[in-house]
Amino acid sequence: MLYFKSCGRCGDGTVELGTDNFGSYLRCIVCGYTINSKSIRDEVDNQATRQTVNSNR
Ligand SMILES: [Zn+2]
Repeated sequence: MLYFKSCGRCGDGTVELGTDNFGSYLRCIVCGYTINSKSIRDEVDNQATRQTVNSNR
C-alpha cells in the first residue's frame, strides 16, 4: 500500500507500507525515512483500532 505525500521527513515523499518479521513499517521511497512498527502501533492505538494492536503482542 502506498501513501502519497505522507512522509514525515521530506513532506512530499511517497510512503510505502511494508511488513517484516517485527510487524509493519512505513518507509518513504524518496528519502528512505522509516517509521517502525512500534510507532505505527502507537498511532493506530490512538485512532481506536485497538483489536489488532493488542492481539499481536
Ligand atoms: Zn521522505
